[in-house]
Amino acid sequence: MSNISVFISEEEISTRIKELGAEIRKDYGDEEIIVLCILKGAIIFCADLLRAIGGKTQLEFISASSYGNNTETSGQVDISYKLSQSLKGKHVLIVEDIVDTGLTLDRVLARLKKEEEPASMKLASLLTKPSRREIEVNIDYLGFEIEDKFVIGYGLDLAQNYRELPYIGLMNA
Ligand code: 5GP
Repeated sequence: MSNISVFISEEEISTRIKELGAEIRKDYGDEEIIVLCILKGAIIFCADLLRAIGGKTQLEFISASSYGNNTETSGQVDISYKLSQSLKGKHVLIVEDIVDTGLTLDRVLARLKKEEEPASMKLASLLTKPSRREIEVNIDYLGFEIEDKFVIGYGLDLAQNYRELPYIGLMNA
């Protein structure tokens, strides 16, 4: 697509995810990890990360949205989930596409901690935009730090489009 330029290539993403997966598995040893994917944006990253982690894992989903169809956060986070197991006493790895203001993760973490009481909760995020942060969020496993640019592809959308791109791209003006 000519109006989109590659910002982070498929190869760069793949290499980084293999590194992250190995690091995560090393940290958890033989422990079972409940990989909790934040829909929809993290689905592609999560599918690749899950396979890079390997070993004993289980996959769960949570849905969180704050953007609507705009490129600026609405300031309100809608969270919904129906897990197939209790997370109480489990080791949970939350997988997110991008941490921007930090609002989404802050709300998701607070709610899961209160309602599910996991033994541990860590966060893996493919991207972070630190210059946009309003609420501090600790990212345990990070793919790439980027500047304040609106990115699409590899699961990330613009009004529900472009999630299928195999790379992280930028819309050209
Ligand atoms: P936060 O709550 O941290 O401000 O925003 C987190 C969510 O906003 C992400 O999960 C993602 O859905 C969306 N978001 C933030 N920055 C971008 C971006 O550059 N591109 C896209 N497509 N979504 C973004």
